[in-house]
Amino acid sequence: MTTVLPSPELGALLVDNAQLIGGEWVPAKSGETIDVINPATREVVARIPRGDTVDVDAAVRAASAAFPAWRDTSPTERGALVLRWAQLIREHDAELDSLESQEVGRPSWGPPPMARILTFIAGQADKVQGLSLPVGSPDVLGLTLREPYGVVGSVIPWNAPGPMFANDVGAAIAAGNTIVIKPAEDAPLTPLALARLAVEAGIPPGVVNVVTGYGHEAGAAIPAHPGIRRMSFTGSPETGSLVMAACAKNLTPLHLELGGKSPQVIFGDADLGAAIPAIATGITLNTGQICAAGSRVVVDRSVHAEVVRRLAEHLGQVRVGAWHEKVQMGPLINEKQHDRVLGYVKAGREEGAELVVGGGVPDGERFERGFFVQATLFDRVDPGMRIAREEIFGPVLSVIPVDGEDEALEVANGTDYGLVASVWTRDVGRAVRMSKRLQAGQVAVNAALGAGLVGAPFGGYKRSGFGRTMGADAVLDYTQVKAVSLRGTN
Ligand code: NAP
Ligand code: MG
Repeated sequence: MTTVLPSPELGALLVDNAQLIGGEWVPAKSGETIDVINPATREVVARIPRGDTVDVDAAVRAASAAFPAWRDTSPTERGALVLRWAQLIREHDAELDSLESQEVGRPSWGPPPMARILTFIAGQADKVQGLSLPVGSPDVLGLTLREPYGVVGSVIPWNAPGPMFANDVGAAIAAGNTIVIKPAEDAPLTPLALARLAVEAGIPPGVVNVVTGYGHEAGAAIPAHPGIRRMSFTGSPETGSLVMAACAKNLTPLHLELGGKSPQVIFGDADLGAAIPAIATGITLNTGQICAAGSRVVVDRSVHAEVVRRLAEHLGQVRVGAWHEKVQMGPLINEKQHDRVLGYVKAGREEGAELVVGGGVPDGERFERGFFVQATLFDRVDPGMRIAREEIFGPVLSVIPVDGEDEALEVANGTDYGLVASVWTRDVGRAVRMSKRLQAGQVAVNAALGAGLVGAPFGGYKRSGFGRTMGADAVLDYTQVKAVSLRGTN
């Protein structure tokens, strides 16, 4: 096995072929493993256990055993432990950043957000409050309690494994639940390193359990397990639907964070100097593999030609390469993604869209082994085309010209998805109307997604999912409500 971990210190954070069950680092019961590869070179970076139903069952038992004591731990103490975890993560920021960069295959994003996410969550742990209820009798006291569910389950994707892990695990355990989580087989290393730091922070054994493995094995086993009391899934709508069916069988409540086909709406009065670089970055960041990526440019015809010219200039200059090179865009995550993105480029051409930039694999020997694609721009895309309706999850931007506000809104809202939307205009009245009428969980005006906000709730409208994360209610969402009536005796 070639091990090319970014630093010896991180090597120490990762245990070879081990998942975390009940505080122990263990291989899969079957003994089988999965190779994790570097998507720029296809070199094997590490190997992980191929966990399955048996391992998930062991993890649910461990989480179940740990639950009563964790539930009864004071929220102040739970918050302090999550904060300690955040501090340890901050001390390892650089290593975690390069680990995530390497397994996802992208150039550095700078200091990773996990410590910030967990600090925000830790502050909510001791602010989960119930109500006092109105009563119909003087000798009765009524109140509501907010209680954890018990063992909760989570399945997360590979595109931002560190932040996804911190978001779900942090909120679940701060509320007093214990968790069984499966990271994607393509990017499990950052989650495993974070779990290692959770143990080091003193979070008790069995509170956080990480089972690694394939989606159809370990992933499917989590929502199917009757011991799971609440489920959270982040990934594609197709898999989300399977997870929902499994939850339906067990009547398990579910939170779904799915895909997107987010519009960037540009009006004739927009500040293009701000809009163009933000839109180009938005579709090339993480090689377009971001659920919130603005992949459709819905542009007023009055500025259409200029927008296309300037976007082409930006996208035509995107430097592509391996994560540690001085590049703006890395490879896609795996072969399946590579085929998928190139397949959509082909579909776009066949349906008659005009290819302006990119559309293939960059030239050169160093791109041959990895899953590289060029930043790609299509113009004159019709809203009915597949590249305008379906999530590509790659660096492919579709420009759809429109006339005026009504058509812009109709096209912007004209997909099954509704995750985020951006509007670029100097007209305040129009900004207000669009903010109210766009069907999306987040709307940004003259700004990149969520710019400058702290604790903005994140989640979908329509088929982008339901439930919200990252907001002030993140921990509250991991609790259920009990009404208590107390009658005094003589
Ligand atoms: P995916 O195939 O749905 O995989 C997501 C996770 O589900 C992975 O851990 C995967 O495991 C697992 N999985 C696969 N089959 C499963 C099954 N039958 N039962 C339970 N779990 C299963 O998604 P992807 O294509 O890798 O990821 C990209 C998608 O995620 C895009 O649609 C994107 O928009 C969405 N996404 C959404 C958000 C958001 O916050 N809204 C964030 C990121 C990504 P393996 O990969 O190990 O097989
Ligand atoms: Mg996968």
